[in-house]
Amino acid sequence: MIEINKLSKWYGQFQVLDDCSTSVAKGDVMVICGPSGSGKSTLIKTVNGLEPFQQGSIRVDGISVGAPGTDLPALRARIGMVFQNFELFPHLSIRQNLTLAQVKVLGRTEDEATVRGLKLLDRVGLLAQQDKYPNQLSGGQQQRVAIARALAMDPIAMLFDEPTSALDPEMINEVLDVMVGLAQEGMTMLVVTHEMGFARKVANRVVFMDQGRILEDCAKEEFFGGARSERARDFLARII
Ligand code: ATP
Ligand code: MG
Repeated sequence: MIEINKLSKWYGQFQVLDDCSTSVAKGDVMVICGPSGSGKSTLIKTVNGLEPFQQGSIRVDGISVGAPGTDLPALRARIGMVFQNFELFPHLSIRQNLTLAQVKVLGRTEDEATVRGLKLLDRVGLLAQQDKYPNQLSGGQQQRVAIARALAMDPIAMLFDEPTSALDPEMINEVLDVMVGLAQEGMTMLVVTHEMGFARKVANRVVFMDQGRILEDCAKEEFFGGARSERARDFLARII
């Protein structure tokens, strides 16, 4: 469903992605890990066209992301993205956060959007919070709302960029539990995370990046069984 082929990207002289190739099939859960600055965020942002690139190609569901004429807003509407810092609209209630894009981007009626939004809010255990504003919720609750908001758009895949790294430890699991549920339902997911418990539980692929390159791209069992590159082994030893 997502095919990344010989992707390279530069910021000025600095090469941030170096000949990256990988692919994600429907229903795959790919965990991307690696040291700070290795290009993980940049890689997943190129997938929905948030970051341009200079070489290589990306196809999502048959659509070429970098090609001239590609309707990027339409593509983005079909790929859910959840960031580290929740990024809810602060001036809108939780319910309004859930409905806005459904109405503006998908053209649903307010009623349709509300039904869909509240169903997902219920799913993440926050139905009772619908009239609150983001700053009245905990970080873990805000992140669950952000996931529900992305799901309300009926995405074909979900991208997560360190969704739990800004959270206090006691809130991490409530967010991971929602993600585990999604994975078990067959959602196609690309997840940048250092939560190796999550990776062990639901990932089927693990990618390890270093200095803009994909050094490992293998089945989970293989990665945890004996990640081959020394850098990946060092990295795992430091974070586990
Ligand atoms: P982290 O684990 O800290 O989130 P990362 O693996 O997600 O790191 P990226 O954010 O993709 O890494 O950044 C990769 C490299 O590109 C870093 O060296 C970063 O400083 C650089 N970089 C990122 N954004 C820009 C930018 N807009 N202009 C110039 N350099 C950038
Ligand atoms: Mg990052």
